[in-house]
Amino acid sequence: MLSLLSARASSQCDVCRQWGRGRVCADCVDRYAAPVPRCPRCALRLPAPAPSCGRCLHEPPLQEHTVCVADYGFPWDRLIADFKFRGQPELAIAFAELMAGAVRAAAQALPALVLPVPLAPRRLAERGYDQAWELARRVARGLALPARADLLRRPRDTAHQADLPRAERLANLRHAFAVAAPAPAALAGRRVALVDTC
Ligand SMILES: [Zn+2]
Ligand SMILES: [Zn+2]
Repeated sequence: MLSLLSARASSQCDVCRQWGRGRVCADCVDRYAAPVPRCPRCALRLPAPAPSCGRCLHEPPLQEHTVCVADYGFPWDRLIADFKFRGQPELAIAFAELMAGAVRAAAQALPALVLPVPLAPRRLAERGYDQAWELARRVARGLALPARADLLRRPRDTAHQADLPRAERLANLRHAFAVAAPAPAALAGRRVALVDTC
């Protein structure tokens, strides 16, 4: 905990290398995570604000709302790889701050609970920490919401998402997690936010 706090008090921006607070400085956030119009349902980038994209209009997805901080690209692609595969869990601090800010800016009703999509045991052994939980608990704290890691379970070990094209990623996720049985009262009829790092 001390190392996380001291790293945050004086650290070099991972993108522009200026010294300041946090792993990504405010200038770089403004530059690379500027808000753009997106479909509220799936977060697809839109040319102008609209209540839905065409795809969600015709085939509504299961989720009511998706919050997106930035498109996957420079510099986030490298930072996410550092977070997921190169043993830098402290990046969760910067990412969670951005995610909580995006949720507040979305001006939607907040969920009752924040849940990490469970990580397969094999992945946990490979990475040494659960990235979705590292994010979910910090996003929840930033929004003054509870987070629970014990309500969902992973019924089978899915293929590496990063190795799959989009259509296969979605198919791969279809049965990737389930509500822990018996369904806990904590979930019944409640609106929840899922945090995943796929
Ligand atoms: Zn910077
Ligand atoms: Zn959409």
